[in-house]
Amino acid sequence: MPCELKPRFLVLYGSQKGQAQSIAEGIADEAEERGLFADICCLSEGHKVKLSKTKYSPVVFVVSTTGDGDPPDTAQKFVKRIKKKTLPRDLYAHLCYAFLALGDTNYADFCKCGKTIDSRLLDLGAKHFYATGHADDGVGLELVVSLNETPESSATDIKLHFLTTDNTGTALKLDSVVSERKSVLTTQSGQTEAPPAVVEASLTRSLPPLSELALNIPALPPPYLDVMLQEATIEEETNAPVSKETLHEVPISRAVQLTRDDSVKTALLIEMDISSHPMAYQPGDSLEVLCPNRASEVGELLRRLGLEDQKSNRIQLSLRKETKKKTAQIPSYIPENSTLRYLLTWCLEIRTVPKKAFLRSLVECTGDSGEKRRLQELCSKQGSADYNLYVRDHNLGLLDLLTAFPACQPPLSLLIEHLPKLQPRPYSAASSSLRHPGRLHFVFNVIEFPACAGRPVGRRGLCTGWLSDLVDPILVHPGKAQSSSTPPLPKVSRGNCSFRLPSDLSKPFIMIGPGTGVAPFIGFLQQREKEREENPEAEFSETWLFFGCRHRDRDFLFREELQGFVANGTLTHLKVSFSRDTPEGTETQTETRPRYVQHNLLSHAKDIVNLLLKENGYLYVCGDAKNMAKDVNDTLIEMVSAELQLDKLDAMKRLAGLREEKRYLQDIWS
Ligand code: NAP
Repeated sequence: MPCELKPRFLVLYGSQKGQAQSIAEGIADEAEERGLFADICCLSEGHKVKLSKTKYSPVVFVVSTTGDGDPPDTAQKFVKRIKKKTLPRDLYAHLCYAFLALGDTNYADFCKCGKTIDSRLLDLGAKHFYATGHADDGVGLELVVSLNETPESSATDIKLHFLTTDNTGTALKLDSVVSERKSVLTTQSGQTEAPPAVVEASLTRSLPPLSELALNIPALPPPYLDVMLQEATIEEETNAPVSKETLHEVPISRAVQLTRDDSVKTALLIEMDISSHPMAYQPGDSLEVLCPNRASEVGELLRRLGLEDQKSNRIQLSLRKETKKKTAQIPSYIPENSTLRYLLTWCLEIRTVPKKAFLRSLVECTGDSGEKRRLQELCSKQGSADYNLYVRDHNLGLLDLLTAFPACQPPLSLLIEHLPKLQPRPYSAASSSLRHPGRLHFVFNVIEFPACAGRPVGRRGLCTGWLSDLVDPILVHPGKAQSSSTPPLPKVSRGNCSFRLPSDLSKPFIMIGPGTGVAPFIGFLQQREKEREENPEAEFSETWLFFGCRHRDRDFLFREELQGFVANGTLTHLKVSFSRDTPEGTETQTETRPRYVQHNLLSHAKDIVNLLLKENGYLYVCGDAKNMAKDVNDTLIEMVSAELQLDKLDAMKRLAGLREEKRYLQDIWS
């Protein structure tokens, strides 16, 4: 039965970092522009709407998934409520809804939270008025894959939908284009990867001629902020505000370079003195570091915007009187009395890859017809491949784009409207407070971006580059003495984590963590070592660590400490693979030599499957989500299938069961 659609509808969102909220607000705003009335509400406030009795029809849900397939914090209570088995089967029989689930295919359980809520709503009698969309942050949230494939779409023809509202103003409509999903990741010429050197040329080179009308360009987002820069004497803020509850300024007590100078990547360990901060943590937890944007980039941006002379002026923000954006508000993360320099240093993520809506607005900010045309293309449907290839995949930020489009001169208000809040960066704790009371260790590789388009040679990751500069004077480094200078203090908060050692000491556990993915396992092992010392009579289980690095002598992180754990029995099996070492006397890697952690895992398939499935063991994977965690998962499927004589599907079900029981846990980052 088709549902009758009333003109007033509700948008409910569950957001972790603001993406779902921003999409939900976009839907509500666009609906208003088209004569619909939309109310918008966070799922954490969902009880106020009383979905079970609501007169709203339809309802649109936009819900993200976070962590290891978990609901965002704002949706946790709602998910708990809706999962209750005692709810009546027709609880939501009156409800018509559409669902947009956000996720990332780099992680297992893609869109798990959205899928859970969606299927539960259906169980409880609600009806879809439009096919559910699953947006993948792995390829760009603007592309939405609908699982309700139409009969004409084949297995390889996946429908890509761009969310728009219907002109008739009666329903939300998903405008679709049938295409192979991978086609959006290829260029016109079918190229799948562009070397950095050609990016700049390609970024500004237009598509084959198409009439302007033929380009499908998103609507211009309505500007909603007015910005005034007042000359005022403000005591210059050089530092971000520190809130007593969440953000602590923590001194660094030690820093060590864990890799040799000739290693492909530089890994650093930082030890923080948390003795005077309420930052209790457990191994497996993460911490978050808030760092400023680089002064040189802030300066460059000020110059580029023509605002260098006004950097010390106070910003005054107000909503435009004529704004139609219902959800418009002055960003709460910009403190009153901020100077312009402070805003660009501590409030906005100036390196973020501009979204298409931002590019669309930039079209209006250049008087050069060639630039206009290319920016139009990059934000259009037809230019999706180029946008992904030349902007998104190369992580180009606003400054890089402004370099490539020199006539483009956006107003400050546009930056504040489109650049997200500067986010703290998470790192896993690499220590146990039992072993290091009052101290917290973490480890990271100093990220280096290749030069391309407007990006200069040698740009490092924002936080890892900043931390590296910060600790340089105190770095314990081969051949370098430790200096006594005190660097400025990082601002740190505690992240959430469900990555924990088994509470039952007799349960075996297996850890897989190549590269800096080993970080939380150092904390696990320090904790276990201490527990063993304190409980000499207790029965402890087997512990396995699969570690991988490139060269035995250059980047075998925590080598001595790991060997020490083996020597004292804390770690019963240490399996290390060297991906780029060649056996002596040969020129190349041999097939038989384990190159990656999963190859080592495969050679111990019998033991591992036995520990996991017969002895109720735990499996932890930490590290890169894009390749390693997927390859490890595939290897596990292969192992379970071979050892238990199961077909692939049944092996996958066994692993899914382990995940459900929280015995297969991942802490993986892309
Ligand atoms: P890495 O140095 O890039 O790589 C470590 C080893 O893994 C190398 O030997 C590499 O070999 C190998 N490798 C490459 N592809 C692989 C695959 N498909 N399967 C298995 N092994 C593979 O590692 P990293 O830069 O430290 O990366 C660790 C990841 O962990 C990052 O994504 C980071 O964000 C994440 N992470 C970090 C922390 C932290 O606290 N810092 C915590 C959790 C997760 P080749 O290069 O020779 O191919």
